[in-house]
Amino acid sequence: MALSPYKSLELEKPAEYQLEGLEIGVTSSCNFRCNYCCAYKRNDGESLAAPEIIRLLEELPDLKRVRLSGGEVTMQYADTLAVVAYCGSRGIQTQLNTNGSLLTPKRIGELEKAGLNAIHISFNYLTAESFAAYYQLPLRFYDRIQDNIRACSETGFHTVLETLLFKGTMNSLNEIHDRVYELGARIHEIQNSIVMPHTGWQGILEERELKEAIHGLIARRREGMSLFFTCIDRFAERLDFKEGPHVHLTHCIEGKTQLHLHGNGDIIISELCHPVVIGNVYRDLSLRTVYQNRPKPLSDFLNKLPCPAYDSLYSE
Ligand code: SF4
Repeated sequence: MALSPYKSLELEKPAEYQLEGLEIGVTSSCNFRCNYCCAYKRNDGESLAAPEIIRLLEELPDLKRVRLSGGEVTMQYADTLAVVAYCGSRGIQTQLNTNGSLLTPKRIGELEKAGLNAIHISFNYLTAESFAAYYQLPLRFYDRIQDNIRACSETGFHTVLETLLFKGTMNSLNEIHDRVYELGARIHEIQNSIVMPHTGWQGILEERELKEAIHGLIARRREGMSLFFTCIDRFAERLDFKEGPHVHLTHCIEGKTQLHLHGNGDIIISELCHPVVIGNVYRDLSLRTVYQNRPKPLSDFLNKLPCPAYDSLYSE
């Protein structure tokens, strides 16, 4: 399968800053309680219905891609499906970020038919026991998620399995990669663990551990698999990271070409590491105008380009 067009926005360093991508937290509700979760105001009861999302997207004629997330996005499935279909009709690439537990064969088929381009599912554990212990969930969730991954892998959309590279996964990363392959997914995304100022989560790796894990995985890459590494672009050279066929470095587009929209209308620079509100679609001007006006928190961010992933490894 060719490289996902959805990903192309991250593969080149943004030469100029234009709003081309939007992440939408369709619902803040989630059926998981991951301790590394970066969700802004998780479970605050806020959500966005499809007609409202579509109204907001109509104001963004230059949008190239939309990521639908949460909370757990499939907890508001009907709205999610309607937005995917709308985006498909406009040629906007869509990705669903989900924990995969609430998918069903019927839903997967409907999403494919609606024109979904990619599904992104977290995958960090090799056994039902370790999964259940970490997430404090019943064992049966693990098999259900794996079944759903297999079903997604047989569709026409891209299935991306993301592994968070942290203390809990660094020693099993290669085996996790093998499992990703066996489940049928052909894109394995490695999210570097980062300090999230708003959650206080601290399970990040040291530089030596990060370097060993990355190089070990690149050497192990299974034939036909694409690897994407996220949140290491600022210090890739220091890690001696080299891109190659099927080994990709994603460039940080947060705040530069992508913003995040929360269910209460808040516009955020980056949910992942910089959850600073720069406006609200119900109080302020349109999302496009807010972005073009470069409110001070956004212009400060774009001038200084702070990066907690870099700072946690290299700041004094
Ligand atoms: S600024 Fe945030 S999202 Fe961007 S690379 Fe750094 S940690 Fe990752």
